[in-house]
Amino acid sequence: MGNMIQFPPQFFWGAATSAHQVEGNNINNDWWAWEKEGARGQSGDACRHYELYGQDFDIAKSLNHNAHRLSIEWSRIEPQEGVFSPAELDHYAEVISALRQRGLEPIVTLYHFTLPLWLAHKGGWLNPKSPAYFLRFVDKVVQRLGDKVSYWVTINEPLVYVYYSYILGDWPPQRKSFIQAIRVTRNLIRAHVGAFRLIKLIYGKKGLPQSYVSIAKNMQAFVPCRHNLKDSFAVILRDRLYNFNLIEKLIRHKTLDFIGVNYYSRNLAEVKRWGINNLLMDVCQDNHHPLPKNSMGWDIYPQGLYDLLIKLKRYHLPVFILENGIATDDDSERWRYIEGHLMSVARAIGDGVGVMGYIHWSLLDNYEWDKGFGPHFGLVHVDYHTYQRTIKESAGKFAAVCRTGRLTQ
Ligand code: BGC
Repeated sequence: MGNMIQFPPQFFWGAATSAHQVEGNNINNDWWAWEKEGARGQSGDACRHYELYGQDFDIAKSLNHNAHRLSIEWSRIEPQEGVFSPAELDHYAEVISALRQRGLEPIVTLYHFTLPLWLAHKGGWLNPKSPAYFLRFVDKVVQRLGDKVSYWVTINEPLVYVYYSYILGDWPPQRKSFIQAIRVTRNLIRAHVGAFRLIKLIYGKKGLPQSYVSIAKNMQAFVPCRHNLKDSFAVILRDRLYNFNLIEKLIRHKTLDFIGVNYYSRNLAEVKRWGINNLLMDVCQDNHHPLPKNSMGWDIYPQGLYDLLIKLKRYHLPVFILENGIATDDDSERWRYIEGHLMSVARAIGDGVGVMGYIHWSLLDNYEWDKGFGPHFGLVHVDYHTYQRTIKESAGKFAAVCRTGRLTQ
C-alpha cells in the first residue's frame, strides 16, 4: 500500500463543459459563422448536450461528482440585439435544476469564447459598449437563475481569448493587432467588474443567499530553460503579464470572491536575444528538459500546478481549480495526468493553500475550437454518429477519488 492522501471535506469534485463545445447548433454566434467559412471542424450537433443534458448529468452523478461547470450561450438568450428569449432562459433554468436534483453544485460561466453574431457585427469586444451589452445579458440571466446558482464565473480565460483572437489571429475575428488586443482586454475587465457588482446587487435586492463570483484564469507554468539572466527574466515577466497582473487588478477592484484557475501545461522559456518579443514569446524548441506531451503537443507538468498554487497563497483568497485536463487517446495517460495533478493540489493544500475544489476538463469529448473534434479531453467518450456515451476507465478511477476524497498512490 502506498501513500494515502485525504482531501478536505466539502471539497468540490466535478467536470466542466462549455455551451458551444457540447450543445450543438449554436447557429447565432460568431464561431458558427466562422466555421461555415471553412474551419477545420464544424461544431454542428457537437455532443447534442442541449437535448441530452439529463443523461450527461446522470453520468456525472454516477461518477460521484458533486459539482459541474457549464456555460450559458449568450447567442441563445439574446439572438438579436435587445431581444431576449424567455424559452432559452427557461431551458437553462431547467438545466440548472437538473443539476441540483442530482446533487451537483452548478458553477455557471457567463462568457466562454462565443459572441452573439449581432454583437460580432458591431465589433464584438472592441466595441466600447460591449461591457454594457454584456451587463444587459448578465442581468437577464442572473434575475432568472440567481435563486438556483451560488457560483458564477463571469468570463472564461480572458487572456486566452485575446491571444488567439487578437494576437495570433487564429480564432474569430482573426485579428493580429496589439492595440486591439489591449482594447479588448480593457473591455473584458470592465465587463467582469460590472458583472461582479451587478450580481451582488441582484442577490442583495432579492435577498438571495451568498454568491461567489470569479473569472476562470488560465495560468501556465513558466519555467526557465537555462539558468541565465535572459530566461529567468522572461519567466518573471511572463508570470507577471500573463498569470498575475489581471488577477491583481481584479483584486484591487474587490471583484474576486475566489481565484478560478485553469491549468494545463508548461511554457519553457528559452530566449534567443534581448528584445520584448523574444522575452515574451521564445520557447525552447529542442529537447532540453523534455516531458511527456498530450496529443496537442502540450507538456505534461503537474509540478507547475503546485508551484502556481503556492504563488497564489499571497492573495489570501480561496482557489478553485476550474479546468485541468489532457487531450489524449490513451486513457491510462489521462488517469496518470489526473493523479499527478491531484497530488500537486494535495501538496499545496498541505502547505496551506485554501483550495475549494477540482473541476476536470472535460466531462465529454467535445468540439475543441479550431482543432475540431480531433483532440479528446473527455472523461466520457462520445460517438459523433450515434451520440452514445461511453464512460472511460480514467473516469471510474477519478470517481473513486470523488467518492472518498482519498487518493492512494
Ligand atoms: C478552454 C476550453 C478548451 C480547453 C482545452 C481551455 O483553454 O477553456 O474551452 O477546450 O482549454 O484546450
